[in-house]
Amino acid sequence: MRITTITVCLGVAVILLTPSVASSAEAHVSFCGKWRSQYTDSGIGEDVFTSASTYDRPAQYAYSSIYEVAPGTDPVIWGHTGLAENGCTPLVEVEVGKQYRFRMRTITRYDSSRYIFVQNDTAEDWTTGYPDGYVIYDFYFTPTRASVSYLVTVVAGKTWETNIAPIAGKIWDRQEDGAITIYSNTTILIRKSTAYSYAQYDSNNDWYRVWSGGNTTSVKKFVAGHEIGHAVGDRLADLHGSNYTSYQPTTLCSCDHIDTDTTTDGCQHCLQSREYIRAGESEGWAHYFSTVVFNNRSSQDGWFGYYKDINYAAPATDCTSPPCPIDVTDDKTWMEDQCSDGYADRGVEWDWLAFFWGLWTEDATNRYTMNQIALVWDEVHDVDTESNHNELWRWEDLVQAADNLYTGYKFEEFEEQGGNSGVDH
Ligand SMILES: [Zn+2]
Repeated sequence: MRITTITVCLGVAVILLTPSVASSAEAHVSFCGKWRSQYTDSGIGEDVFTSASTYDRPAQYAYSSIYEVAPGTDPVIWGHTGLAENGCTPLVEVEVGKQYRFRMRTITRYDSSRYIFVQNDTAEDWTTGYPDGYVIYDFYFTPTRASVSYLVTVVAGKTWETNIAPIAGKIWDRQEDGAITIYSNTTILIRKSTAYSYAQYDSNNDWYRVWSGGNTTSVKKFVAGHEIGHAVGDRLADLHGSNYTSYQPTTLCSCDHIDTDTTTDGCQHCLQSREYIRAGESEGWAHYFSTVVFNNRSSQDGWFGYYKDINYAAPATDCTSPPCPIDVTDDKTWMEDQCSDGYADRGVEWDWLAFFWGLWTEDATNRYTMNQIALVWDEVHDVDTESNHNELWRWEDLVQAADNLYTGYKFEEFEEQGGNSGVDH
């Protein structure tokens, strides 16, 4: 079979193939979508999206369709579903001389109840933008030669949305690999923030909304992964923080090196700040989730690109130009080593990141899947009799929950990782 390949960049070049004499001859076409994207926090040792240059990444799981262009109807001949892992449609039979339209959206679809929408909207409210606000890319194509298979690559030019869409696709790719667990009936909406990046939860709706900063030329991929991680943690086990006011005014356990105004949302917490334990768990989880998106479990290392400054103890040099590369296999035991007393029911994000990563990777026999980790937090709802568990997900309650769920060495692994990372307070 003859193969004809065509690559076009939407908005830059349009290739119109002039229809030949009308004929019922058959051809086949496969469209492959690509997102032009750039991540400035790349090349720090991670395994996924390792280039910091502009790169055309496959539109994995992008919600797409192929229409036949016909007056008043435009019947769908394939689609209303996600592209494959390689970002392509299957080979679809078409007729020579007819015009077709390939439509790709900044929506990713894992299955009929799991979506991540990338929304072209900066409004930071709950009332607008669902289910609208995504971007549509249309490409028209007319096959001219019979018995030919056309492979058409369509590249969506770089915008904030095309920077985020590959991350959303990669998350479903990692779900397919078993690295990530996102339950059925999960819709996550991610939209631009003009200020800082954050996630919020609307318990009245069946979707999760997150905001991520960035611009049309580049984004920090670990930030987007982190914020989506908050939404996933909330969906799995209400694993989100709610109180970030336990601020310790000591140099190495605060965020004073970023901003001394602790009332500003972006500086209430950072990787090294001592926080209420639930805030530390929630932020550590989101860091862990983002690390999982961009690192393979099978590799011996794991790297997280932290997006705020880090104030190290002398003689180490402070990181003042993020991304700050974080070796997530390194148990810092930051709270125990760098903070003053007051460990009970408190935590440090860095320690919790190391805890989750260690639990997920270290012991080949007894390590936990993402879902097995989340089930412990879900179980705490059943063992915690405190009325204020929204503020305190205590270590002893987590251990009790793990003991309820797992036995033998599997359970012991939970306690061991707690001790290794220093979150067992
Ligand atoms: Zn966060």
